[in-house]
Amino acid sequence: MQEDSGIARRLEAIRARIAAASVAAGRAADAVRLVAVSKTHDRVSVQAAFAAGQRLFGENRVQEAAQKFPFEGAKLHIIGALQTNKALEAVKLADCIESLDRPRLLDAIGAAGQKAGRMPEILVQVNIGDEPQKAGVALGEADAFIKLARTRLGPALTGLMCIPPAEGDPMPYFKRLAAMADAHGLAVRSMGMSGDYEAAIACGATHVRIGTAIFGSRPANVT
Ligand SMILES: *Cc1c(COP(=O)(O)O)cnc(C)c1O
Repeated sequence: MQEDSGIARRLEAIRARIAAASVAAGRAADAVRLVAVSKTHDRVSVQAAFAAGQRLFGENRVQEAAQKFPFEGAKLHIIGALQTNKALEAVKLADCIESLDRPRLLDAIGAAGQKAGRMPEILVQVNIGDEPQKAGVALGEADAFIKLARTRLGPALTGLMCIPPAEGDPMPYFKRLAAMADAHGLAVRSMGMSGDYEAAIACGATHVRIGTAIFGSRPANVT
């Protein structure tokens, strides 16, 4: 019970901060959607957030997501690195896949969409800081890859996602992603997490992905 009310209370506080950051940026109070990242947290936590009015959730692993979703009335974004052999399950389960980052996965998602007879919204994940260890299409390849994805997916490709470098000011990276989305005429910019979502909103985020600040901390080995 206490944990439930904690989730409700934290959600309410975050919604207020999102609205305030949106207005401060000269945007509508409801311009930004909150993706509640429930990875590592159980279905009871999802239920508590749902009871507090949250409808949009993010999970980074398809198998784990399939234990909690579909959840009636809720929408699911897959936000983590996706293996090609999980593409079909992801396409069946998710309302949006935010982590398209390479041609082989594009092929797998395209084929999965044919097979499943549905295609979720798709975002291209950009390795916005060009960090060697990070997922996402390399900066130098991003323009060509976004064009390729648009050709293959058509209107299902709705935007871009990024995770900026952990150290330093994230704003230049958020601005870079927003400019890239603008250049390609893509409306969705998924950027900003528990520690930096207000900065992301100032830079034009349409979706912020927040886990820890809603559900509490995770085991250290789960990013
Ligand atoms: C885990 C995760 C988040 C949420 O991170 P928090 O710092 O817990 O808010 C957001 N985006 C992605 C891609 C993640 O893997």
